[in-house]
Order: sequence, then structure tokens, then C-alpha cells
Amino acid sequence: MDAKVVIAGGGLVGALTALMLAEQHPDWSIVVIEPRAEGPPADQRIIALAAASVKRLQKMNVLDEYSWQTPIEHIHISDRGYLGAAELHAASENVEALGVVVPAAKLVENLYRRCHAQANIQWLNNQRVQNIQQAQDSVTVTTADSTQVKGQLLVGADGQNSIVRSLLNLPSVSEDYNQVGCIATLSLDRSLDGWAYERFTEYGPIALLPMPNQQASLVWTFNEAQSVDAKNWHDDYFLQACQQAFGYRAGLMKTVSQRVFYPLKLRRATRNIHHRSVIIGNASHALHPIAGQGFNLGLRDVETLAGVLKNLTDPGAFKALSSYQQQREQDYRAIISLTDLLVRGFSNHYPVMTVPRNMALLGLQHIGAVKSQFARLTMGMKTAGGPL
Ligand SMILES: Cc1cc2nc3c(=O)[nH]c(=O)nc-3n(C[C@H](O)[C@H](O)[C@H](O)COP(=O)(O)OP(=O)(O)OC[C@H]3O[C@@H](n4cnc5c(N)ncnc54)[C@H](O)[C@@H]3O)c2cc1C
Repeated sequence: MDAKVVIAGGGLVGALTALMLAEQHPDWSIVVIEPRAEGPPADQRIIALAAASVKRLQKMNVLDEYSWQTPIEHIHISDRGYLGAAELHAASENVEALGVVVPAAKLVENLYRRCHAQANIQWLNNQRVQNIQQAQDSVTVTTADSTQVKGQLLVGADGQNSIVRSLLNLPSVSEDYNQVGCIATLSLDRSLDGWAYERFTEYGPIALLPMPNQQASLVWTFNEAQSVDAKNWHDDYFLQACQQAFGYRAGLMKTVSQRVFYPLKLRRATRNIHHRSVIIGNASHALHPIAGQGFNLGLRDVETLAGVLKNLTDPGAFKALSSYQQQREQDYRAIISLTDLLVRGFSNHYPVMTVPRNMALLGLQHIGAVKSQFARLTMGMKTAGGPL
């Protein structure tokens, strides 16, 4: 089978890449290889989209019909038991919302439907990349059932355990935070009214995102030993522990859904390109979800890639891929540092750390310019320090 571009992985980033490239180049044929069977994904993640990502997805009509988006109008960041706290408000940043909360599965499903409606995208379900052969003018992917797809560019969007990254021997560094993220939906005795909370507790950070119908999406980070216990907590015990750790700022926690646990690692490829190949999204950088930036960063990968390929006839041209790699560096550095700072600085209660971090939160609250920079970074917008 021949294609112009072959995309490994039809998750959020792979599907978005297919759609963006197919719309930009109606004459290009694009093949997506995805192991998942047809039908809605089982992904339970609720993700926060930064304001800039929302704008981009709305422009592509990917978010339009969704009544289930919940805007984030305020963010409250605090350290349980200490004075330091900071608030960010959409109104102070002159935006309607700092971001919106959406279920990842709905977004994937909608992208998948849009890809199916696009004549120049061919979607291969139940197939996984197993081998890659590079030639001067082409790259050929062989799937587990021996189907061969030959293209001029291979985009590896196959997630954090990317087979494309390993087959191409692209170097990566990884850092195990020895933490496990637990996600669940809570029902509360009141609506969060557009407030999102990030609270640093002795159990690790707890994030609550607003959802419709007096619900909240919970991301609770445990260390590995605590997570072994937490996996066995029954609903009542879990709710009690969560309420105790978070406090009552978001009201009373009434019920909790089934929990899903993710081991948390930072993995970052130190090189994202190879001959006629590029890795993007989680295949290139898998972040801790504490700052809610993973997909937002992936979306900017897709936009940059589409940008460098815009006026080309050969999408695998080395100059374009090399320009892509260069253009992404600064954004990666900014977001990875922000995430790493939050994970390392805020995930413990050592007195030596609580003082500086509370000062940092107080500083954030009182120094308008710093707060605005922080808000812009989390909203995926340009900061004074450099381009996103
Ligand atoms: C708990 C949690 C909360 C998060 N919250 C946020 C948030 O609030 N905001 C945010 O921006 N981000 C968030 N993220 C990160 C976000 O979910 C990821 O950045 C995003 O899903 C990455 O998308 P992706 O398409 O790169 O990778 P994935 O979603 O992992 O998709 C990879 C795809 O590749 C396919 N694949 C696997 N192997 C192969 C193969 N051999 N061949 C072909 N295809 C293959 C898989 O089936 C899958 O469909 C969160 C993550 C977690 C874990």
C-alpha cells in the first residue's frame, strides 16, 4: 500500500495530525495504523485543554458540537496546612476561560469520526507497527499482520512506549518519579462553578477539575507504597481519605467512580527526527499530569509539523524535519521545567521545601507580572521569555 504520510498511532495526537495534514494537503494520501479495534476508546482520562489549544481545536471544528466541555474560569493552587496559595482568574487575564475540561475519549472519538469522513485518510484498525525500513526516498512500515505501507514520511504518534522510537533507536532520557497517578470522578454536594484546584498534600498533589452535574475529575498522585494501599481502598475509605487530604474547599465529596492508576514517569526523546521519520506527542515526551500539559504540548507538535510541511511536495525532506526539531526545543524546555518544578518542589512535606514553595505561592499571588507569566504558560500562550 502506498501513501504520502504514514502515521503510527491513532490516539489524540496521531488522529489530529492525520486531520490537520489531510485538510492542509487534500492531494496527500495519509494512512493511520492503530491497534485499537473500531469503536469508542476505553480511555477514562479527563483532560484540561489550555486556552490556546481550545482556540485551535475550535478553529478545526473539532470541539464545536460538544456540550460536555466545562470551562475553567479560576485556578486555585495551595499547599495543605500552610499559608501559601495563589489564584489565577480568567477575567484578570482578559480571557473567557483559562482552559476547558473534556473527556479524552470523546475527543478521540470525534477526531476519529472526522478522519473517517476525510477522503484522503485511510484508517487501519487492529494493526500495529512492527518493523520499519528506510530507503533514500521512502520509508516502509510493516504491521504485525505483515501489511506493508510505504510513504515519504513516517510520523510516530504511538504513545510513551513508542515502537517507532525504539525501532529508529532515537535516544531518550527517562526519570521515574516513583509515583502513581490515580484518576476518578467524584460527585460533590455542589458545583465547582468553574474553579479548578491544585492542592499539595502529604499524600502528593491532588488536582480537581470542574465537570458538569456537580462532579469533579480527580487526579491524585501517590508514592508507590501508598498506591499499593490506595488500590485496595473501598469507596467509603477512599472518599474519607481524599476529603481529609484535600479539605473542604471544594465541598463535600459524596461518591467516587472506579479508580484507574497510571505509573508516572517523565520520558523525553533527546532527538525526535530520523531519516524520513519524526516522533511527536507522548512518543516524544510523556509528562507527569500534574500541570495538565501533555496533550497541549502534543497539539503544538502537530501545529509546528503542519507548519513546516505546508508548502512542500516531499513531506520527508530533511530540512523541514530538522527545522521542526529546532522549533520545538524551547517549548519542551519551558513545559518540562514547569512540570518538573511542580513535581519535585511540591510533592513532599520536608520543611526545607515547604518554606520556599509557600514563598513561591505567596510570590505568585502578589506579583502580578509573575502570575500573569505563569497563567500564560499554563494557557499555552506566548510568554515574555520566549515562544510557545
Ligand atoms: C492521568 C492523566 C491525566 C492527564 N491530564 C492531562 C491534561 O489535563 N491535559 C493535557 O494536556 N494532557 C493530559 N494528560 C496527557 C495526555 O493524556 C497525553 O499527552 C495524550 O493522551 C498523548 O496523546 P498521544 O496520542 O501522543 O499518545 P496516546 O494517547 O498514548 O496514543 C498513542 C496511540 O498509539 C497507539 N499505538 C500503540 N502502539 C502502537 C504500535 N505499535 N503501532 C501503532 N500504534 C500504536 C495506541 O493504541 C494509541 O492509540 C494526562 C495524562 C494522564 C496519564
